Amino acid sequence: MTVGMDAADDEASEKWIAQVLLPLPLPEAFDYEAPVGMGLKLGDQVAAPLGARVVRGVVIGLRPARGGNRPLKAVAERLDDWPLPPRTLEFIQWAARYAVDWPGQPLAMTLRGLRAPKPKPERRVVATGSTPERSTPARIRALAAATTPLTRADLTRAGGVSASVIKGLLDDGALGEVAISPSVHWGAPDCGLPGAALNSSQVAAAEALKVVVGQDQFTVALLDGVTGSGKTEVYLEAAAGALALDPQAQVLVLLPEIALTQAVLDRFTVRFGAAPAQWHSGVAPPKRRQTWEGVASGAARIVVGARSALFLPFVCLKLIVVDEEHDSSYKQEDGFIYHARDLAVARAKIEDCAVVLASATPSLETLWNAQGGRYQWLRLSDRHGAAGMPDISLIDMRASPPDKGGWLSPRLVGAVADTLARGEQSLLFLNRRGYAPLVLCRACGERMRAPDSDSWLVEHRYTGRLVCHLTGFSMPKPDRCPHCGAPESLVAIGPGVERIEEEARRLFPNARLAVFSSDTASSAADARALIDAMAAGEFDIMVATQAAAKGHNFPGLTLVGVVDADLGLRGGDLRAAERTYQLLTQVSGRAGRRDQPGRALIQTWAPDHPVMQAIAAGDRDAFVAVEMSERELAGLPPYGRLAAVIVSGPDAAALETFVQALAAAAPNAQGVSVYGPADAPLGLVRGRRRKRFLVRADRSVNLQAYLGAWRARVRPPGAIRLTIDVDPYSFL
Ligand code: ADP
Repeated sequence: MTVGMDAADDEASEKWIAQVLLPLPLPEAFDYEAPVGMGLKLGDQVAAPLGARVVRGVVIGLRPARGGNRPLKAVAERLDDWPLPPRTLEFIQWAARYAVDWPGQPLAMTLRGLRAPKPKPERRVVATGSTPERSTPARIRALAAATTPLTRADLTRAGGVSASVIKGLLDDGALGEVAISPSVHWGAPDCGLPGAALNSSQVAAAEALKVVVGQDQFTVALLDGVTGSGKTEVYLEAAAGALALDPQAQVLVLLPEIALTQAVLDRFTVRFGAAPAQWHSGVAPPKRRQTWEGVASGAARIVVGARSALFLPFVCLKLIVVDEEHDSSYKQEDGFIYHARDLAVARAKIEDCAVVLASATPSLETLWNAQGGRYQWLRLSDRHGAAGMPDISLIDMRASPPDKGGWLSPRLVGAVADTLARGEQSLLFLNRRGYAPLVLCRACGERMRAPDSDSWLVEHRYTGRLVCHLTGFSMPKPDRCPHCGAPESLVAIGPGVERIEEEARRLFPNARLAVFSSDTASSAADARALIDAMAAGEFDIMVATQAAAKGHNFPGLTLVGVVDADLGLRGGDLRAAERTYQLLTQVSGRAGRRDQPGRALIQTWAPDHPVMQAIAAGDRDAFVAVEMSERELAGLPPYGRLAAVIVSGPDAAALETFVQALAAAAPNAQGVSVYGPADAPLGLVRGRRRKRFLVRADRSVNLQAYLGAWRARVRPPGAIRLTIDVDPYSFL
């Protein structure tokens, strides 16, 4: 609908109202007068007055004003930015309803790419067509070369003339200056290039996906293939299918780690002869703005990105791939709270397109949907080529404990020594950054904790600091205990990756070692450099957190040692066993590629735990069956629905009063149980106390409606914040 065109046909006095959604935490969109001459359309970006400010917003509704309406402020300006496509608007509003959040929050995610200013127009010179007063051979050459706009530097080169010749022609008016907005060239993907020669199970999966994509309608497929089975090769073919069918088609590939993007970008570049657009926090804002515009204009056909790429304004989305769909980093926990896998399925439904969820260890939710026939289930059960699956065994730490002061059992140390002797690589995995997770005073027992949070400070030896991994607070390690003043009494308890590296260095002084964690690879480029060096065989031993557990191919890696497999099982949240199973399977899956067999040794103090047994036996189905039946018994996801309601505030008494009022306001509804309030496991974060309610509901219950009704009954006072987390993952 356009204001102006339609309005002109009606009475000249008729006014229009534009409903404008602002990217702010406000309950609803605001009405503004739509100036007739502006020709506003749905999806247009506008500048609208808000109090004393003028803010960016998006038109999500237009209607003629009825007589007697109160006077409205008018839209100030229609912005010269791409409008948001109708389906993007629909997705934004759907996402807000799903998350029980204000619609301005997901809109802010969509508009984030526009934060950088538009690139400045570049000045070029071009022949104006008028004849200069004086003609010389140099002037003739310059004018002949200036038929299209060029920078002055390019024109001096192209015409083989000096800068003064160009200045003279400008003074004479034979050359003129024009401003050109710089544009990015998004290479069109070439679907005619050959893909890899697929093996027979890959062909079967790729053909099935091509059929899915060819139907051009909402379908979810689970690409369930063991590590190294070639899932990427298969979804590349699905992308080729989508791109070949429609010259406008766009494909979105979501990845859980930006460290993985370069490898996937490279594979897309080789397959389609053009580099895809990329979207993640490592991309500089001006570049991000260009990508945003490329997506909105339809020029960017393939986008590879992190979870937030899901909010981009695609105009013709035909396929979404969620790689490593089980990965918990798809869950965004602050600001707008969402899970990118779940929202990807919702977006595909709205776009009426295909979505492929790929994993070697799919989430129970996804498996449940595949088992129920709602998702098409495609399997790759073998590694590609000669590569076999790694041989996985448990090390019972009770029977084979490490030497005093160490963390590696003699069996694991022996295996690393053998691997070194053969000239192959080892990966020692411990999902803990830093040197030691806890620092305490030998004299008084004081444990070092963050000043405003209930979390222990982690010692980092490389930087000599104590760091809170929750809030980022850090301080130099003190010489004396801040509590009792005893000198040099602070001792490190437990290992982090830096401490394992220290131990490995002591045991294998001649080995080439590297540590891979978000501290040693804080940027995508650093991560890439470490991954490339490992893949090129420049290290013998890599000590790594989960940053290295995901998706990388290291051809020379034949041994994976898991230092503390029980780590993820402590804490006991809903997904502890599932996550441990996934992480250990993924990290073990790094071992053995090409024709070298790999093995994984898993150190555990609980070798009888069902997770450890299932991993050792390589029996995913058994693990899933047990875990599913436990969830079913408790009515937990995927058999039931779960949400957390978290309230926080700086003042304990005020928080307690509000929490009691909130508890009393919980609506009674069949099939819904509310648990709590309980102190959140980390009751104090950044000086704010936190309490949590858990809501469990049967699948038949509209959980969002329940939560919305509950929230509407209370009004958090002053400094108290109420956050709803639908389908919570982390229970901090
Ligand atoms: P996954 O994503 O399932 O772990 P990848 O797609 O990354 O597997 O493939 C694992 C490795 O095997 C990669 O190095 C990939 O290039 C290689 N590979 C897989 N399938 C083929 C194929 N059909 N031809 C050649 N190489 C392949």
